[in-house]
Order: sequence, then structure tokens, then C-alpha cells
Amino acid sequence: METTMPLPLRNLIGGEWALPHDTSENRNPANPEDLIGLYARGGADEVASAVAAAKAAQPGWAAASPQLRADVLRRVGDILLARVDEMARLLSREEGKTLAEAKGEALRAAQIFHFYAGEPLRLPGEKHNSIREGVEIDVTREPLGVVGLITPWNFPIAIPAWKTAPALAAGNSVILKPADLTPGCAHLLAEILVAAGCPAGVFNLVMGRGSEIGAALVAHPDVAAISFTGSERVGRGIARGCAEGMKKVQLEMGGKNPMVVTARANLDLAVGACLNGAFFSTGQRCTASSRLIVEAAVHDAFVARLTAAMTALRLGDPLDPTTQIGPVVSESQLSGNLDYVRLATQEGCEVIGGQRPDRPGSFQNPALFVNATNDMRVAREEIFGPCAAVIRVADFDEALSVANDTDFGLSSGICTDSLAEATAFRRASRAGMVMVNLPTAGVDYHVPFGGRGASSLGGREQGRLAMDFYTTVKTAYTFAG
Ligand code: NAD
Repeated sequence: METTMPLPLRNLIGGEWALPHDTSENRNPANPEDLIGLYARGGADEVASAVAAAKAAQPGWAAASPQLRADVLRRVGDILLARVDEMARLLSREEGKTLAEAKGEALRAAQIFHFYAGEPLRLPGEKHNSIREGVEIDVTREPLGVVGLITPWNFPIAIPAWKTAPALAAGNSVILKPADLTPGCAHLLAEILVAAGCPAGVFNLVMGRGSEIGAALVAHPDVAAISFTGSERVGRGIARGCAEGMKKVQLEMGGKNPMVVTARANLDLAVGACLNGAFFSTGQRCTASSRLIVEAAVHDAFVARLTAAMTALRLGDPLDPTTQIGPVVSESQLSGNLDYVRLATQEGCEVIGGQRPDRPGSFQNPALFVNATNDMRVAREEIFGPCAAVIRVADFDEALSVANDTDFGLSSGICTDSLAEATAFRRASRAGMVMVNLPTAGVDYHVPFGGRGASSLGGREQGRLAMDFYTTVKTAYTFAG
């Protein structure tokens, strides 16, 4: 067992590690005996102090040479790379994903900071002729000011990275509010930003309950914008709050992502893609394949092969290198997943797997809900666990129509060897991201990420397009005589 941290880990406000009034325990979901640390639990006062510090620091950060911002971001990436194993182990302990997945995520965070280190120098502007003689027009981008970043527990280093890096690159100051369940990775990121020379007040960390910290950030008049990733329910409330306060808002929320397997699919490839998309990271990915839509001609063979592959997955301690599936993130998330397993039976599915195994920790065996129909709650609501509904369809046209019949629209996929089917699906899919012969989860960091419908609102994240959200456009007219 790891040693217990003796001191509470503090919030970072205006360059100081602030003494907490209250703390909360961060425990390993695979091993409840493993106390990772005591973390500060802030309140509205800490938010007010952090916003004041961020407001004071932002003009200097925005006015400094873009080279300064580039250097800080590059150094964050360098330090993350040097500390990748430490970050991965912490991530595995607090979130429960396997060490290999955690290492991939920590590495991704470093890549993201390196990518955005180029942006301060690349921020584009435009020069236009005016319709009026002697007038010149400049279109430039400016930072928004103080930006609040509210992040979920399932990618506790990658998501803070992909919000913080473009926000800072554009010249904003930041207040990061990480998920209550995973403050550790955000705290380590804050330490790294300090070590990289980020000026006091430019990056602030306020840990604590979403209902207090998140709500206080949304309500604060000096916060110009909120970028949120999390559940649809909380996202809708944030959108209302931001509308009330006239704030720019970006929401990345849930998914009920379809993966179509047609009669012309390579079944080995399809089973591998569905196994990965549905169950890796314990199914706790917004892009997870939670609806497997399978043509009748290959349905039974597909289900038999996927069942065999699923039941062979090694569930266990995520720190054990042979483990393929770690725990569910918390007891409360597990209890919600088990409710859905019961619901699947009540709705008439044949349920394969899905039980809580007899071992300590918040574990759940992966589950398939066979004979699901697309109108069932288990096929419409995001479960966010290792559970996938299998929906039998007659042909490609029905598969496409079922795939698009969802309130969400984040990621979608098709497994087929037919170029015609792949092309038709890519064109007609109502999702922000479409995968052909690839799992619905698993993306690159240099291209846009996001969805449609109830999955996303307010502009894409990642890639260069992310800079749109973190900047505002100014059109200047000059009469040059
Ligand atoms: P959540 O909505 O419960 O919490 C997300 C964040 O919001 C946390 O930091 C939480 O403390 C905060 N929060 C909670 N209540 C708040 C309030 N009233 N005001 C302001 N902030 C508040 O989500 P979660 O359980 O942490 O994460 C899982 C969800 O995140 C899933 O729905 C998943 O699909 C989604 N997700 C989406 C993406 C994406 O990019 N689309 C990526 C990862 C996760």
C-alpha cells in the first residue's frame, strides 16, 4: 500500500498555496484502504480570491511577449514528460484506469502543452481593404480575460490540459476546478505550472464541490467564460447560468455513441473495435461505444465472439500491468451502473455479465445487453460504465437510422469492408466525430473534438479550432488619411 500523505494538498490562488478551511479524502477505487491524500475543499471565498488574483494577473500575461507564453507552455510539456510515470501512477490510483491507459493519458497531456506552445506565435489576424477610401481594417484576436475551467473525473489530466493550454496560449488567466473525485492530477498539474514559471495568478486551482465552486465560478461577474466538460444535467444548468451572466460558454457532455457492424465487416476487426470502444477505461469515456448496432446476418456470430473476448478481459488492480479493466470510479457510480443492469433485464434484454465480483473495491464485470431495442432506456441514456446495448437491425439503412436516432451526437463508428457503406455512413452520421473501422473512442489532439445535440455546445475543443473559444475578435477601422 502507498504511504498516506501527511499534509492536506492546497489550492493555488494568486501564486500561493492557500491553507484550506476544509478537506476531503481522495481514495483509490480499487483499494479503499489506499488513502491517496487529503485535498483542500474550497468554497465561494476561495473562488472570489482566485478570480481577483486572475483578474489582476491577466493583463500582464496578455501583454507579455508571446514568446513568454510559448516558453511556459513548452516547459509544462517538458516537465510533464519528465514526470509521466509519477502522473500515471497517481491517475491510476485516483481514477482507476489501468497503468498503461494512465501513462497514455499523461503523455497526451504533455503533447497537448507542446502543441499549444506554438499557438501564441501563430495567433492569426487579417488585414482588409475598406469600402471607404483611405480606411484600413484590421481583424485581430484578443483574450477573453478570466476563464473558468470545470472538468470531470474520467480524464483527470488530459481534459484539464486541453482546456488550460489553449486558454493560457491566448493570453487568458485561468481558474481550474477539477472533479471532486480526482483532485490529485489537477494538483500535480498546478505544481508543474508553477515549476514551469507560470506567473502568479495566471493559473489558479480551486478544488471542492461542483455545486459550490463550479456554481460560484459561473455566477462570478468577473469570469468572462466557462469551459465545462461533464454530464448533460450539470451542463444544462451551467448554460442557463452563463446565459444569465452573458458569459461565453463551451459544454462537452455525454454520449450514447453508436458502433455499426454491417454484414460486410471484418468480424475480427469489429470485435476488437467494440471490445476497446465499449469496455476499455471501464467504459468511462464520453466517446465509449454504448450502442452496438449489428446487422442480423452477422449478429449471432458477433455476439458469441464479443462475449468470449469480453469475459476473457482481466479485471483487477489497475497498477498490476496484466490488468485490462480497472474499477468503476466510485461506489456511487457503480451503484448507478448496477441499477442499469437490473433495468436492462426488466426492459427485456438478455444480460451477459455486469455483476459486481466478489472482491474489495468498486469493480464491475463488463456487460452486454443483448436483444436491446433503440427505444429502451438502456439504449437512450448514458450509463458511463462498462455496459453496451446490442441492437439487431435488418440492414445498413436501418443501422444508419438507429445510429442517428439519439439525443446525443458525439462520436459514431462503422465496421465494414465496403467503401460505399463507409462513405454513406461518414456522410450521413449526425455526430461530431465519425470512425471507420476504428473504435468510437480514441482521438488525436491536433484536430477538433466535440459533438452535436445534447453532447456539445459552443465551439470545438482541441486542435487549432480550440483557440476560437478562448479568444474574441476585434475589427478595427483606421483612417490613414
Ligand atoms: P459531472 O457533470 O457530475 O461533473 C463535472 C464537473 O462539474 C465536476 O468538476 C463537478 O464538480 C462540476 N459540477 C457539479 N455540479 C456543478 C454545478 N452545479 N455547477 C458547476 N459545476 C458543477 O460529470 P462527471 O461525473 O465528473 O463526468 C462524467 C460525465 O462527463 C459524463 O456524462 C461524460 O460523458 C462527460 N464527459 C464528456 C466529455 C466530452 O468531451 N464530451 C469528456 C469526458 C467526460
